[in-house]
Amino acid sequence: NAMISLKHINKVYRTSEIETTALRAIDIDVKTGEFVAIMGPSGCGKSTLLNVIGMLDQPSSGEYWFDGKNISGWREAQVSGLRKAAIGFVFQSFNLISELTVFENVELALLYHADIAASERKRRVKEVLKRMGIAHRAQHMPQQLSGGQQQRVAIARAVLAEPKLILADEPTGNLDSANGEEVMQLLTELNQDGTTIVMVTHSDAHAQYAHRIVALLDGGVVSENIKRSL
Ligand code: ADP
Ligand code: ADP
Repeated sequence: NAMISLKHINKVYRTSEIETTALRAIDIDVKTGEFVAIMGPSGCGKSTLLNVIGMLDQPSSGEYWFDGKNISGWREAQVSGLRKAAIGFVFQSFNLISELTVFENVELALLYHADIAASERKRRVKEVLKRMGIAHRAQHMPQQLSGGQQQRVAIARAVLAEPKLILADEPTGNLDSANGEEVMQLLTELNQDGTTIVMVTHSDAHAQYAHRIVALLDGGVVSENIKRSL
């Protein structure tokens, strides 16, 4: 029951004279309910891999199977529908909109779901802010919050539409160790509730929260280290 199955994925960036192979012959499966950490030095292809998994970037060759469907040949309109329904994104730099309150930042994630009424939308925002322990900050602006709180807002936004997959690109990269641990705790709870997680990290300590650590080097998988069973 693989949610994600990457089969011999290659990604080559071509810019006039320069050709960079960012991913080479990647074969990775991620099971439904699994928590996978991706590690490796700067430039090894972690962000490219996450962008491919997140359907933001097309591989140059290979197949991408998601929930039993080969999405490799799909058009952008189809892909973006699946992406919006299935995937929540969390970034290193939180990516909150500084002109909007915490509440409004989270609410944005459902604004384009026309089938959800405004009252239901607001109820769900309140609920998720409470779950993330930041309900008392709903009317604050992002800059008034600590980094850890901002990341919890970003996670609230990512999970509001109840995605089956969360992709996190160095979610603790800008946090001190206490806030980093808190964010890892939150991600672990979401995973225990059934959300599949793929996380890029530079932190050995934070990678330990995952079921499995995939190490990349020069665009290829060099090791897969199982930490605990699913
Ligand atoms: P992003 O996809 O968020 O741009 P990058 O891999 O480019 O991620 O790196 C994001 C940040 O992490 C940068 O500030 C970079 O300097 C830092 N960084 C990259 N590689 C390492 C590493 N091996 N150890 C520690 N910090 C790193
Ligand atoms: P990481 O996230 O591990 O730091 P990246 O996936 O960002 O690695 O980059 C992998 C390789 O692909 C690097 O050599 C990088 O310079 C190159 N690369 C990434 N994005 C682009 C792009 N848009 N155009 C050209 N080269 C790119």
